[in-house]
Amino acid sequence: MSEPRAVVLSSGGIDSTTTLAVARAEGYALYSLTFDYGQRHRAELLAARRVADFFRVERHLVVSLDLRPIGGSALTDAIGVPKGRSVEAMAAEIPVTYVPARNTIFLSYALAWAEVLGAGDIFIGVNAVDYSGYPDCRPEFIAAFESLANLATKAAVEGALRVRIRTPLLALTKAEIIRRGIELDVDYGLTLSCYDPGPEGGACGQCDSCILRRKGFAEAGVADPTRYGSSRG
Ligand code: ZN
Repeated sequence: MSEPRAVVLSSGGIDSTTTLAVARAEGYALYSLTFDYGQRHRAELLAARRVADFFRVERHLVVSLDLRPIGGSALTDAIGVPKGRSVEAMAAEIPVTYVPARNTIFLSYALAWAEVLGAGDIFIGVNAVDYSGYPDCRPEFIAAFESLANLATKAAVEGALRVRIRTPLLALTKAEIIRRGIELDVDYGLTLSCYDPGPEGGACGQCDSCILRRKGFAEAGVADPTRYGSSRG
């Protein structure tokens, strides 16, 4: 028997990279999936490549899918990325860095690839503890998508595949995620979290994602390997 296959959504950040490590530890053959969706933080595509190499995935697929014509997000449209916010302010509302329906779109692609690969498990590094603003990171959404997946695919309705949406980080804090990753020998120096990195790929240190990342390393008691650099603005 060969190893079971898993599709793992990978953005090159802490959460998806830890999720890859969990899937590897569970013995899956890894198929990582990254989206070039017109995000302003394009350096994350390079980070996802480094991470895929680190895990020696079976295949790293980069799907080009331009969400800029739809816009509606600070990550894909001419809207400024918020800087210097408190964690309380971040938690108060769904932020402008929310990308409309992004995880529904991404999981739909992952599902299609999983069906072709015969992969029953789709891993996504969503998290509903530290930063619960995004509706498509909540457990209700994940459960609903899993139901859909088993109704929507030929392999599932014919009984050849039972699709599971795996969310190993769902109930972990950022610090717990980092500690889990360190246990699994993740090199976080390969990852990038910043929403607004500088031209050389250095993190801005001021966006919500940078602030949560820094806080996570501090709370985990782990040295922060982040490379900070000048922001474009
Ligand atoms: Zn940043």
